[in-house]
Amino acid sequence: MGKNIGLFWLKDDFRIRKNLALFEATKNHDQVVAFYLYKKQKFDHQEAQKWWVSRSLEEFRKKLDKYNINLEIIKIDSYKKFFGKLFSYKNFSIYWNKTYEPNYLKFDDYLSKNFKINEVDFKILKGNILNEINDVKKADDTPFKVFTPYWRTAEKIYLDKIPANEKIILKCKKKISYFKNIIDEKEISPRKKWFNKFEKYWTPSEDNALLQLKNFINSRIENYSEGRNFPNLPGTSKLSPFIKHGQIHVETIWDECQKIKKIGSSKFLAEIGWREFNHTLINNFPYMLTGNYSKKFDKFPWRKNPKFLSAWKKGLTGYPIVDAGMRELYSTGWMHNRIRMIVGSFLVKHLLINWMEGEKYFKNCLLDYSEANNISGWQWVAGCGADAAPYFRIFNPILQGEKFDKEGEYVKKWVPELREVPKKFIHRPWELNNEKILKLGKDYPKPIVLHEEARQKALSSFKKI
Ligand SMILES: Cc1cc2nc3c(=O)[nH]c(=O)nc-3n(C[C@H](O)[C@H](O)[C@H](O)COP(=O)(O)OP(=O)(O)OC[C@H]3O[C@@H](n4cnc5c(N)ncnc54)[C@H](O)[C@@H]3O)c2cc1C
Repeated sequence: MGKNIGLFWLKDDFRIRKNLALFEATKNHDQVVAFYLYKKQKFDHQEAQKWWVSRSLEEFRKKLDKYNINLEIIKIDSYKKFFGKLFSYKNFSIYWNKTYEPNYLKFDDYLSKNFKINEVDFKILKGNILNEINDVKKADDTPFKVFTPYWRTAEKIYLDKIPANEKIILKCKKKISYFKNIIDEKEISPRKKWFNKFEKYWTPSEDNALLQLKNFINSRIENYSEGRNFPNLPGTSKLSPFIKHGQIHVETIWDECQKIKKIGSSKFLAEIGWREFNHTLINNFPYMLTGNYSKKFDKFPWRKNPKFLSAWKKGLTGYPIVDAGMRELYSTGWMHNRIRMIVGSFLVKHLLINWMEGEKYFKNCLLDYSEANNISGWQWVAGCGADAAPYFRIFNPILQGEKFDKEGEYVKKWVPELREVPKKFIHRPWELNNEKILKLGKDYPKPIVLHEEARQKALSSFKKI
């Protein structure tokens, strides 16, 4: 193997467009190999994502093939051990894009130091973000803790340095292999064939991400501000798993929205802004990855209640909008944002269960699971995050259902045992009192807690902190 080999370390960057590390590798080398490191333990609590990653590897391999680039998957126990061996090869240059999570960024420092010592050429490039984490700061050089001023500043900074032209990946002269003991992507699949259902809903490819973005912009973005609240409508982009795994770069989303300048695009881009904001939060306040951002919540009297937790996970709480959401999550690997807020609020406020339990379950089930968004989302719901919903604002699952799923279509889709329940009772089936239509407690559970009682308990628990 000559010195001219370029290695591209593939992480969450399953795309050709705006993939700076891949671009640099093909610009500087005639022969390039892409490699993906599969550390099984990393996915032990991210079952659903195994399916997305496995399918993404399959799709991306086909794409890279057209550029004469081999994609090799290596099973590892430890990143340090793997790179420790690689340092001694020295017949390559290596490129990768940043992943904006504190552990990855810390590891980048470790690798930089060691590649330098070993005289290996390496380049770490900008990953899937608009602004680098430290580019957006307050005037006093401290990080923003509130979203609105953050995004106002972030947008201006980004506008000043939008990349002028797109870098195009080049076709390599010859396809080569590099690593030994490579594995097939099929080795990365979740347990229990659970994933079979996902096939119906998702195709994890770059082409599909672009198509989905274009369809959304052409037909739905104008109604986004309103439509994004209704879980039975296709009101949002459903791009989150593609963004998480880098099938699409957020700069591409920005560019496409700017081209059309339709109403709704600034609201849509502001949601991309929340993603950026969440990444700056976890990197500036990494302690929030394992605990409350707001320390006063350390004293919150959470309750351990395995029976309630299990009912919540299974979608058997007796509150139709909550149960529909939890079943949508399990069946599709995704849940609508409003419903994430409702089920999250129900867990932490009605059941008084620590948000970390919800975070853990979402992590295992979400195809779009992202450390930054999931942790910040849960802390927002629980009231302990930066710029969070106040704890005392407690979502009423009945009124939320009646407002955002007026006809009960969403509930009926995911909770079929309520299909015959008239609209008037769909979000309060315990008031129906008609055993011919629904035997409460048999066909469908009675509410596991009563809303008003639970609300009072939550408020008095909150007073304790
Ligand atoms: C408790 C909780 C947990 C969450 N966990 C995750 C998670 O693990 N991964 C994840 O990507 N999102 C998470 N979110 C945020 C949000 O629910 C999803 O990003 C959104 O539902 C994805 O659907 P979409 O692609 O159709 O969004 P759209 O409305 O089309 O938005 C476009 C993109 O903007 C970003 N975005 C949208 N809303 C938010 C938000 N509130 N916060 C941060 N980014 C946002 C996402 O990348 C999304 O794909 C969570 C929210 C809550 C309340």
